[in-house]
Amino acid sequence: MKRMTPNSSTALHARGRHDLPAGVSLLNNPLLNKSTAFTEAERDRLRLRGLLPPRVFTAQEQAARALAQFRRKNSALEQYIFLTALQNRNETLFYRLLLDHIEELMPIIYTPTVGEACVDYGGIFRQARGLWVSLRDRGRVAEVLRNWPNRDARIIVVTDGERILGLGDLGAQGMGIPVGKLALYSACAGIHPYYCLPVCLDVGTDNASLRASPYYLGLPQPRARGAEYDDFVAEFIGAVREVFPKALVQFEDFGNRNAFALLHRYQERVCCFNDDIQGTAAVVLAGLLSAARLTGRPLREQTLLFFGAGEAGTGIGEYFVSALKEEGVTEADARRRCWFVDSKGLLVKGRGDTLPAHKAAFAQDGKPVTTLAEAVAQIKPTALIGVAGVGPAFTREILEQMAAAHDRPIIFALSNPTSKAECTAEEAYTVTGGRAVFASGSPFAPVNLGGKTYVPGQGNNVYVFPGVGLGALACQAATVTDSMFLAAARTLAAQVTDTDLASGRVYPHLNSIRAISLKIATAVAEEAYRSGLARRPRPADLSADIQAQVFQPEYREY
Ligand code: NAD
Repeated sequence: MKRMTPNSSTALHARGRHDLPAGVSLLNNPLLNKSTAFTEAERDRLRLRGLLPPRVFTAQEQAARALAQFRRKNSALEQYIFLTALQNRNETLFYRLLLDHIEELMPIIYTPTVGEACVDYGGIFRQARGLWVSLRDRGRVAEVLRNWPNRDARIIVVTDGERILGLGDLGAQGMGIPVGKLALYSACAGIHPYYCLPVCLDVGTDNASLRASPYYLGLPQPRARGAEYDDFVAEFIGAVREVFPKALVQFEDFGNRNAFALLHRYQERVCCFNDDIQGTAAVVLAGLLSAARLTGRPLREQTLLFFGAGEAGTGIGEYFVSALKEEGVTEADARRRCWFVDSKGLLVKGRGDTLPAHKAAFAQDGKPVTTLAEAVAQIKPTALIGVAGVGPAFTREILEQMAAAHDRPIIFALSNPTSKAECTAEEAYTVTGGRAVFASGSPFAPVNLGGKTYVPGQGNNVYVFPGVGLGALACQAATVTDSMFLAAARTLAAQVTDTDLASGRVYPHLNSIRAISLKIATAVAEEAYRSGLARRPRPADLSADIQAQVFQPEYREY
């Protein structure tokens, strides 16, 4: 593909006519293609006559047809394949559809269907999207980045495929995750697709059945570890700084040892964040702030019991502690309100195993117990948060315990995909007689109980990361800090209305995701200016300035 350069701050939308491709090249360029919506005059001017059927359609007519085609597919995976092909043909139409039908399409573009797609990414593969950087490219990673056709990547979502959602090591097939997340950046925060770069670092896979698959897309070799891995990632980060100096790097779905290590290594040196740790933590903190309003019990009086002590769990714990500290609670008191059960039982001091730093920070003085039910009985948490990724664990007995101890027990079953959720929305509402304040990671349908409809909240990271990315880009933040994520969490929680809360929702409606992302972006940029991390002079009206940078999926006239 011809390398393209934007000739103004609004990138391709402002491209001059002189460097516009014509004919088949134009139709094959998904950022510029309008397909049957090219007007008569454009067809003449751009040598398109004859290459398209004669009737000219409006964007609305095209969207109606595409939606009908989408709905005709008889499985979620087929719908995913259809949307991917649409994105590869015509990005404007793809984003129009996604934005106008976000609640219907998001579970296809992202969790849960994207997980299913990654499992079979080799099998369903049609056309490459994103940049694949493999161990074979060592020593020339910058050269590989320069092959990307767009000069000015500003958001890079990168995975090494080791822990895809709750599905484990999918190696190079994890590419579906950066592709999906970046689609959400453009749809939800209006970051122009031109600026988005999905990257998969192929360092091998320890998934033996994938390596043996005839359709596997990556290097069929065991994962690189230790210095070999660290040096490869370091070369990648160095190459990003050289080739795309304005880019923010979002780490996504790395295995938990590497995820924490990379975040600690780069967090203060590079504009980057880890969505599984920081994005999740901010989203769930926002849900807890809403739940505190619903239960009438302030955050500082909540006691959390996590099932799972990995990236998501300990990340949430850390932000909960920070939020309590902002409210005047001491760090020690705040930590005493966070309990964890991992695969070895309750996380207590002297348990006998060597704890990694992210877990050691939460080891409590307490009696060791091995099951979640025993831990619930001992701690009597006000909130139970499932982030172990192992499937049904909030049994009827456990939900009954929670319901007996509290008027409004908080039950967050956050593991993905749906099959890994700790309990269903129906189980939580039924067993607690509709008293549970429930949220999940994957979407659940509303539940009718005794004539009342309960709408489960989805603690979807999409509420936070697009806004954080947009805010960081808008002010050209040097780094992305935890304070920015805390600002994002409080801003998100403030968008939850009393009407949302009355139906059980602890998150706002996704239909207003663009407005939510804009508010979060403004709060994040505000925090960057406050802390001296913004590298761009502050505009007079920050919110209006950010709004003006937002991509609208509308055809331009050529
Ligand atoms: P992780 O691998 O870092 O952590 C998993 C943790 O679960 C580890 O501490 C492990 O010891 C523990 N665990 C494993 N088996 C267990 C068992 N049988 N009993 C108790 N604990 C057990 O993974 P993560 O990034 O923390 O993600 C965990 C889950 O949370 C995944 O399913 C993921 O999809 C989900 N998640 C949801 C959201 C969201 O809802 N927004 C965001 C991020 C992650």
